[in-house]
Amino acid sequence: MKTIGLLGGMSWESTVTYYETVNQEVRDRLGKHHSAEVLLRSLDFEAVRAFQRAKDWKGAARHLIQGVRQLEDGGADLALICTNTMHILFDEIAEAVSLPLLHIADVTAAAIRREGIQRVGLLGTRFTMEESFYRERLERSAGEGGAPPLAVLVPEEEDRGEVHRVIFEELCLGTVYPESRERFLEIIERLRSQGAEGVILGCTEIPLLIGQGDVELPLFDTTSLHSIAAVDAALL
Ligand code: GLU
Repeated sequence: MKTIGLLGGMSWESTVTYYETVNQEVRDRLGKHHSAEVLLRSLDFEAVRAFQRAKDWKGAARHLIQGVRQLEDGGADLALICTNTMHILFDEIAEAVSLPLLHIADVTAAAIRREGIQRVGLLGTRFTMEESFYRERLERSAGEGGAPPLAVLVPEEEDRGEVHRVIFEELCLGTVYPESRERFLEIIERLRSQGAEGVILGCTEIPLLIGQGDVELPLFDTTSLHSIAAVDAALL
């Protein structure tokens, strides 16, 4: 079994889910007392927030590259950047290290394709919903047999603001309010009425608020998909 490196702490509320999911997945597949071989480097999220607020992506890249190098030096065979948002730096980080990094949008796109879905809604931070790095990666993902490219829908401005606020002011601080769950369900309903056939939970904390039991539309839980892809790679 290969060693999975987790660059976490963004926020630690969702890193807990990554740690739990890779271990549960290895136990389910291998049985007995098997668990995942894991190295975790968990960052102080306030430092990452400061880079985000200043849009200092160069500084952020240096900080995250240092974290992934620590995983590499510690013996990780592959690594995950445990946040959708910071995949904005994926290319710089991947170039600066030699271990393989699994891109969260690639594993999500593959899951969407498996469901035969073409129009998909995206919920995440403003960075993820509004910058091009994430949507374009999804749109560029190759479908099999000449399948059309994915069409990605994001909520209207006001709803994007609310999703972003709930992520940073509530979920990343460990609070889950039923009223916010209701707001998210309304936003998902609006995406559905615009033609979304499924919705990406494109922020690793959103699954702490809503899950497949809350909605009929297929949900793509990026935290879970990313963790499971790491186990697939670790057990190859
Ligand atoms: N974990 C979140 C994400 O998946 C947001 C925190 C961050 O800004 O990294 O995008």
